[in-house]
Amino acid sequence: VQLSCTAICTTDFSIIEGKHRYAAYPIIPGHEWTGTVINIADAKDRYLIGKRIVAENYSTCGRCSACRLGAWNLCTDYQEIGFNKNGGYAEYLVTRANNVHILPPEIPDEAAALIEPTAVVVHGLQHVQLELGNRLIILGDGPIGLLTIQVARVMGVDNIAVIGGYDNRLALCKEYGAKQIFNYHNEGDNLINNVLSQFGLADRIAETSGSVIAVKQSIELAQRGGKICLVGDYEDKQAFIIPNDILIKNLTIFGITASPGTWEKAIYLIATKKIEVISLVTHRTTLNKFKQALKMVQNKEDSVIKCVFKFG
Ligand SMILES: [Zn+2]
Ligand SMILES: [Zn+2]
Repeated sequence: VQLSCTAICTTDFSIIEGKHRYAAYPIIPGHEWTGTVINIADAKDRYLIGKRIVAENYSTCGRCSACRLGAWNLCTDYQEIGFNKNGGYAEYLVTRANNVHILPPEIPDEAAALIEPTAVVVHGLQHVQLELGNRLIILGDGPIGLLTIQVARVMGVDNIAVIGGYDNRLALCKEYGAKQIFNYHNEGDNLINNVLSQFGLADRIAETSGSVIAVKQSIELAQRGGKICLVGDYEDKQAFIIPNDILIKNLTIFGITASPGTWEKAIYLIATKKIEVISLVTHRTTLNKFKQALKMVQNKEDSVIKCVFKFG
């Protein structure tokens, strides 16, 4: 695949810094990519040549019990492009023809690079069985949090509160339809009390920030019988939680990795403009500015939300 666009994901920093559990080195990261097929290994895939595509990043054994159940993200020999196979921070990459989705013309390259995180968000919300009219609290105002608002709205959820740390991102949360926003820098120690008094407990919680404090807060903010999905990257940090909060409230906590079965749904959401992803792309750059671009995103400089590398 000749790449046309690759988006920077904050997970890439833990990979590059050697803190990611499943990354294998040396590795070219980059898992939010799109491009054009320029060559194939098997003649039966010839129809793909010249097509604009995205492809699911997984590579699995196909033989373990999880694979046979179709839960490929649970494969005991799970591998993923950008984690332990070379990814999109390059001009070319190799993927499996079976994993390819041909892009409809309605999806421009920059939007296509955001299909992967959208598919992860759909996976998370499906996994917590988000239902019509649920009350939802999202922790984190990064790209995953912003996508979560939009996808949740399509799924019939309007009562959404977001906790984040950046006013420009929280303003965007409101634009995308969040009813209430809370900046933890301003709320300080009163954060949880203020969220509870102004918004209340939530049926569903999406923890997208990757902060272990937010994991504890997710439990505090969940309604009895609530469901929590953890979509952040917590590296190997420890969270302080009170198990009886989970027990007494009968909570269910789901860990979310990857996006089995949700890519076509993400493509549908973007192609039909049910969600709008281009406005997340605040910066465009080229691979020869790799270091500067990563530093900018990591330090959240210049009000960056999503930065994409453009090729060619
Ligand atoms: Zn990502
Ligand atoms: Zn397997």
